[in-house]
Amino acid sequence: MLFDKRNANTLPLTSTGNWSVEEDILTKEESPLNLRRSSIISGKEKALIHLKLKLSLLKILIRQYRNPLDWIKGLRFLIKLRRRFLGDHVLNKMAFVDGKYYMGLFTPGWNDQVYERFIASELKNFKENNTAAFRFNHVFLAITKKCALRCEHCYEWESLNKKETRTTAEIQATVQRLQDFGTAQLHFTGGEPMLKIDTLISLMQKATEETNFWMNTSGLKLTSINARRLKEAGLTGVFISLDHYQAEAHNSFRNYKDAFYWATEGAKNARNNGLVVAFSICMTKEFVNEENIRKYMDLAKDTGVHFVQFLEPKNVGHYKGKEVSLNDGQIKLLENTFLKMNFSNGYLDYPLITYHGYYQRKHGCYSSGKKGLYVDTDGDINPCTFCHRKSGNILDPDIEEKLEQMTTSGCPEF
Ligand code: SF4
Repeated sequence: MLFDKRNANTLPLTSTGNWSVEEDILTKEESPLNLRRSSIISGKEKALIHLKLKLSLLKILIRQYRNPLDWIKGLRFLIKLRRRFLGDHVLNKMAFVDGKYYMGLFTPGWNDQVYERFIASELKNFKENNTAAFRFNHVFLAITKKCALRCEHCYEWESLNKKETRTTAEIQATVQRLQDFGTAQLHFTGGEPMLKIDTLISLMQKATEETNFWMNTSGLKLTSINARRLKEAGLTGVFISLDHYQAEAHNSFRNYKDAFYWATEGAKNARNNGLVVAFSICMTKEFVNEENIRKYMDLAKDTGVHFVQFLEPKNVGHYKGKEVSLNDGQIKLLENTFLKMNFSNGYLDYPLITYHGYYQRKHGCYSSGKKGLYVDTDGDINPCTFCHRKSGNILDPDIEEKLEQMTTSGCPEF
């Protein structure tokens, strides 16, 4: 693959940047945090937790409504809501990380303080209650244009490594604003957010605990020390981009010779320091076949990640104007893999799979200001990370109006 120098104006293009693998050495005092086990649970253990979870839903209903009839109707509403997404499929495993139980990447972990408010927000569609609802389930917030990688599919290609337009104070004000709106999950993206690790830590330290913070990263610089610092500052989990089970193929896709090292080592360091870990893969048409997916899932299991996120390629950013869509057979294969690995008993020790395309084709888009949003590197709001339609700046005084317009226009694809 030819090296594209188009966006090379601000970073040294040495392919490895300044970050060598030798950085990843711990001193005795910096060893991983001593946390509870982190694993995929199933069988009786999962059944018991599921029962406790259902009881906790009942407790939430009792706290939200006085009328016992509402408790029953509310529980039915929640069951219906779950069925709407999963159909009759029963998830027979969960990720257990640092004392919390996760069934999906975009739902707060059970037992987390954000969980009750998340459920109470959903219940407002059943009947009004006194909890301040989350306006957004998830917001992606890009905190830098800088990145050492040059990925084949980068959705931020047009702004990558251009001059930063936002100050740390503005990003801080953005986090504050999103928390004021009510945001259950805030995902820091870029560029590469790890290049701004001190900013990340300070943003989380200054924020309130009403939001779960996540980071979308290539894994660059995600040493054990840094994973520990992020965990201590309040990070819940990381999405680490890994697009192939073979090192050379991933490094070539990412145009960076240590990309595979950082993705896999970063995942282990994050896991060992109590973070929820997801591999995120861009399912290119060259990659999608049964053998590749199986080998990839084997690697994910052996690395010990909790989730794998399947992303379909979109013709935005570096893929703009290119024919990157999967064919129907490939989509079917991804859907079957998603259903088989999540809901059958043959893959209980494999990571859980999140596959947005599956739900979007069934239910439409939940982003576009409805439940989600993308705030880009200029602070402008967009329907999602793959749908770039700037609709005003998040710090504009009339942002409510602009959000409304964006939500009304909706997602052009789903
Ligand atoms: S996709 Fe992410 S890691 Fe790759 S070049 Fe773009 S910002 Fe960097």
